[in-house]
Amino acid sequence: MDVDQRKCVACSNCIPTCPMGAIYIDTTLNRAKVNLEECVECHTCYRGMSKERLNPGLVRTIRGVLKLLRIRFDPEPDVCPTDALLPQELTWPRSVRRAFSDPLVPHESTGIHGRGTEEVKTNDVTGRVQEGEAGFTIEFGRPGVGVRFRDIQKMTMALAALPIAFERKNPVYSLMSDPAAGAIRQDVLDEKVLSAIVELKTRVEQAPHVLHVVEEVAPTLETIVSIGVSTRCDAQGDELLGSLLKREGYIFYRGKTNLGLGRRPERQHSPSPVQA
Ligand code: SF4
Ligand code: SF4
Repeated sequence: MDVDQRKCVACSNCIPTCPMGAIYIDTTLNRAKVNLEECVECHTCYRGMSKERLNPGLVRTIRGVLKLLRIRFDPEPDVCPTDALLPQELTWPRSVRRAFSDPLVPHESTGIHGRGTEEVKTNDVTGRVQEGEAGFTIEFGRPGVGVRFRDIQKMTMALAALPIAFERKNPVYSLMSDPAAGAIRQDVLDEKVLSAIVELKTRVEQAPHVLHVVEEVAPTLETIVSIGVSTRCDAQGDELLGSLLKREGYIFYRGKTNLGLGRRPERQHSPSPVQA
């Protein structure tokens, strides 16, 4: 994202729209600027504001004159009065920022918008996590914090030492150069995104080891980490995961339950694990 310096009138309206705090007023130039290191190309500023096409010179003159009279003239807070925000054509590797940060852009690797994965919400039909397995969703970053792939890699490399399998239908997996080692492509390591999700699964008995590694590595990262874990009940509705988590001292709730009612679309129909 960029700001057209010829058009900007430094009204500051775009500053609070940015979830990364990347827009600031350059007080020397008296224009808004974007800190490109921190900008995750989410397009929230551009999409979230109405645009007027007022004459920048005229607006600056009116604001200057009124300022002398100690009167403020500010446009409505959700308007860029001179249409000064300029989305840029993104090339690799910067384009990954937008793919992971703009919810309206689908990920090329999975065709899914947002963070690019269905997670286990569709486990009814995907069967990603089977009985006796624990599926993990490890989420990095948040608005206001973000995450660089270098930090994600620290976690994936530590986890790869355990008997786990990373989920392949996941956009972070598609950026891995060596999934067995948890290594991510060198050319994206410095790219920053709003948030990203790594998914993996392991045997239920291994779940505490995964949690221990996440707890150990998370404080060393310049981001925040949230974790979700799921499993599949047996025919009686029982599972091992809950008791293991309680034994490890975690407070355990069943957050979401798939009832086994999901079905594949007709044209792709094949017997699902639930039906089998
Ligand atoms: S809203 Fe538009 S005119 Fe106002 S500071 Fe931002 S880019 Fe400049
Ligand atoms: S594209 Fe997103 S991160 Fe970049 S300046 Fe705009 S709102 Fe901020």
